[in-house]
Amino acid sequence: MRALKFDNAFVRELPADRQSGNHPRAVHHAGYSWVNPTPAPAPTLIAWSAEMAAALGLSHDDVQSHEFVEIFAGNRLLDGMQTYAVCYGGHQFGVWAGQLGDGRAINLGEVVTPSGQRWELQLKGAGRTPYSRSADGRAVLRSSLREFLCSEAMHHLGVPTTRALCLIGTGDQVIRDMLYDGNPRPEPGAVVCRVSPSFIRFGNFEIFAAREDYELLERLVDFTIRRDFPMLSGTPETRRADWFEEVCIRTARLMVEWQRVGFVHGVMNTDNLSILGLTIDYGPYGWVDNFDFNWTPNTTDAMERRYRFGQQPAIAHWNLVQLANALRPIVADQSALQNGLERFVEDFENGYAQMLAAKLGFLEWRSEDADLVGTLQRLLHEAEVDMTLFFRGLAAVDLDVPNLGAVETAFYSAAKRRQYQPELLEWLSRYAIRARQDGVPAADRQQRMNTTNPLYVLRNYLAQQAIDLAEQGDYTLIHQLQDVLRRPYEPQPGCERLAEKRPDWARNRPGCSMLSCSS
Ligand code: AMP
Ligand code: MG
Repeated sequence: MRALKFDNAFVRELPADRQSGNHPRAVHHAGYSWVNPTPAPAPTLIAWSAEMAAALGLSHDDVQSHEFVEIFAGNRLLDGMQTYAVCYGGHQFGVWAGQLGDGRAINLGEVVTPSGQRWELQLKGAGRTPYSRSADGRAVLRSSLREFLCSEAMHHLGVPTTRALCLIGTGDQVIRDMLYDGNPRPEPGAVVCRVSPSFIRFGNFEIFAAREDYELLERLVDFTIRRDFPMLSGTPETRRADWFEEVCIRTARLMVEWQRVGFVHGVMNTDNLSILGLTIDYGPYGWVDNFDFNWTPNTTDAMERRYRFGQQPAIAHWNLVQLANALRPIVADQSALQNGLERFVEDFENGYAQMLAAKLGFLEWRSEDADLVGTLQRLLHEAEVDMTLFFRGLAAVDLDVPNLGAVETAFYSAAKRRQYQPELLEWLSRYAIRARQDGVPAADRQQRMNTTNPLYVLRNYLAQQAIDLAEQGDYTLIHQLQDVLRRPYEPQPGCERLAEKRPDWARNRPGCSMLSCSS
């Protein structure tokens, strides 16, 4: 544990709330509030990420020690740790919501590794903070487990994300009304230690702009650039413009990646968008099973479907517009902000096209491929085809005799499979003609596709099965999923079950296709 060296730049360089204690309040002219985690009565280590521990310089023995559980449950501090909750605001579901802040996340400080990598450590679910409003600052095992498994899985998929060091059961019960239907019940509590180079969100800037605290807004922008974007040079003025453009570039890349793997965030409020372009705040997220641009896992958004799969890139752009508006008072050259937003559109469109070409195994994207892709998306949707299994299967299709054999396991409905067979076959022959034009050996195409299209993703029903077992004290599926999701592009003998499509029982089961924010 001695390996952890802290250098807490955020609290050193930004002003603290002058009030102390965790009672709810509006916090003005401050980046954060000092707050202590609420101790957990009987903490136990449920799971941990060996990769994240290694990146921090923690040994196996460190992780297995009593001290580790105590520290990452929030019961004890290491030398150099300082605990605080950060002030931010946000647009929630398109409406300015005012102050939000770390309502149940408590930062432990910033670790700098010997190679110079900076990692903020944060406990999610460690009790009330000044930003908890009327909520309890806690988290339940099911949501903590989902965040822990998914954030590490995303990392291994190559999708930019915050990370997770460990999942700890607190030994406490937390009351939640999971479906908001008037049936609250006690659930086991848990804490995740999240890790990221920075947890700063769009909403950190928006809150200062909304309060017309431009001095602090400038300080936060310049601090963020200095600490998190050291590659940007130039005058302070050009640096700010370049920085906004860089945020747009990274956000565009993130959107391409989510669409590639079929990840639906579920709550793309501006407080849930990372300034580093990382996936952050895993709540009612989900993975697309049967391909459907209209799908959202979030029951709270079931009517409007604002954050549905197909709309994620457009929402990211909307969120960047809110960020640009917040920055307007401190950026002299307003056209720079407009340029950044245009860059988002350009980068997303190029990146998306290249991503689609890679998913289909083409050497490069051609504009006429748009029709092929459009038809495929319509067919996958209408014929209820599993996105992940279809693209894996497509790699195995023999271009000389295209047929549905290799994608057989991807269908959810036998009737629809029959109904759409002629159109799908027609599509496959068009695909085969196009793919053959590249003139590359089949093995090359397959290899390109199988490193772009994952075989294993954290399907919603798998996470739910891991939760059901964990609530009985059985953590084996968590560990098995962790292990398999480390190599999501490689078939792993003996683990075929974890690549299977959603079973029928999970179609409408809460937790498997529908999730609420009650975490
Ligand atoms: P989310 O949309 O889940 O990212 O959360 C929106 C806001 O609600 C953030 O300010 C969170 O910190 C806060 N929040 C969510 N759940 C809780 C909770 N159980 N206790 C306190 N604050 C919470
Ligand atoms: Mg959030």
